[in-house]
Amino acid sequence: TNHRWDSIRGAGVRDTAPSTIFDLILNGSIPATIVRENEHILAFKDINPLAPAHILLIPKDRNGLTSLRQSTEEHIHILGQLLVMAGEIAKDTSLGFGDGARIVINDGKDGGQEVQHLHVHVLGGRQMESTFG
Ligand code: C5P
Repeated sequence: TNHRWDSIRGAGVRDTAPSTIFDLILNGSIPATIVRENEHILAFKDINPLAPAHILLIPKDRNGLTSLRQSTEEHIHILGQLLVMAGEIAKDTSLGFGDGARIVINDGKDGGQEVQHLHVHVLGGRQMESTFG
């Protein structure tokens, strides 16, 4: 649909960081299983799921949000929208979620972040352990 391309154009003007694999998903160059979408957010299945249900949510217009640590007051609205949609996805039993989920943002090198486009992981469909690793 047109708005995906509009978002990419917007990112090109407002964000000079290198593009990522997520731009290829956004512009349709590589396939992804999209599970939810609105004007500002794309949610799709992680290609290497770490749980029976593993969804990623990304802002369509990165707008400087290579990572959470880059966030400023101008990002408050999109960050709130991402968390609201993460909560909706976490309740979606048709995606394999049960009674709860783990919602994660890896932030920067030490956080294990590999793709430099802010993304929220929603993991579920199994009992999560109490520790991080
Ligand atoms: O938080 P981090 O940057 O490590 O997460 C990146 C995620 O993007 C990984 O879970 C990886 O499996 C996922 N990915 C994907 N599709 C791609 C490339 C990476 O779902 N084409």
